[in-house]
Amino acid sequence: MENLRERISSLKKKRNAIILAHNYTLPEVQDIADLVGDSLGLSLEAAKTDADVIVFCGVTFMAETAKILNPSKIVISPEPDAHCAMAGMCGPEDIKEMRRRNPGAAVVGYVNSTAASKAEMDVCCTSSNVLDVVSSMEEQDIIFVPDSNLGAYAGSRAPSKNMILWKGFCPIHQSITAEMIDDLKREHPDALVLVHPECRSQVIEKADVIGSTEMMIRSARESDNKEFIVATELGMKHRLMKECPGKSFYFPDVALCGVMKMTTLNSIVRCLETMSPQVSLPADISERAYNPVKRMTEIK
Ligand code: SF4
Repeated sequence: MENLRERISSLKKKRNAIILAHNYTLPEVQDIADLVGDSLGLSLEAAKTDADVIVFCGVTFMAETAKILNPSKIVISPEPDAHCAMAGMCGPEDIKEMRRRNPGAAVVGYVNSTAASKAEMDVCCTSSNVLDVVSSMEEQDIIFVPDSNLGAYAGSRAPSKNMILWKGFCPIHQSITAEMIDDLKREHPDALVLVHPECRSQVIEKADVIGSTEMMIRSARESDNKEFIVATELGMKHRLMKECPGKSFYFPDVALCGVMKMTTLNSIVRCLETMSPQVSLPADISERAYNPVKRMTEIK
């Protein structure tokens, strides 16, 4: 593994590349990344980097988002088949149909969407800024795609808005049940419960803290508590343990996202050597998706 790390480090210099990795990627990938974070943090970094090449370790919509923000840069997605299941649940035609059925409503879309879907949105959001984005909208009627759990959570915090929800969900967060949290709470009664808002509402009701992966890390770091039950994808454990030494984290063991684990050190070496596969988007999609994504990075 040391050889692979050295190889990545020298290729990175040669290509003037930056490596961005999502909090759910493999531990060894997180360890060689220049920045590990959630979708918002990584998008912000992608928007301001002066590197020539962005290697995005995560799933394909994330690399597409980086390309939308940086059309002139080379963006590489080491595993081009790492597609997020939720992003595939709502396509551009679905959004157009929702608009036809709800004239006057604004479309807020979770960043976990394809570039073609983003091109049909008014604004994108992440789980970090969803509440700010929804409450910043002038329109009262908000079509929210694709995540029904995140949309329902945002609606519960913005009661003046009429949320019109698409029926998508993250299969990983959806597999976490309230009973699993109750079982972990029985085993660890002093643990604080941190819940990602992609979880179903019955799980969100069990939370002491609801928030994105970055908010979870901040809460765990700043809390006096020593134990935490964490309702999100298991990849988060690595960063939590690294940044919060001496604290313990308990996850529902079903929460494993296979596509987030596809990127390996080998795939990063391969893509830096061959400079492929590069993300390429049709110009009209890239142009129309720019404003919704840019607005997302401006609402923090
Ligand atoms: S954890 Fe869920 S939302 Fe995230 S990439 Fe996997 S399937 Fe998509």
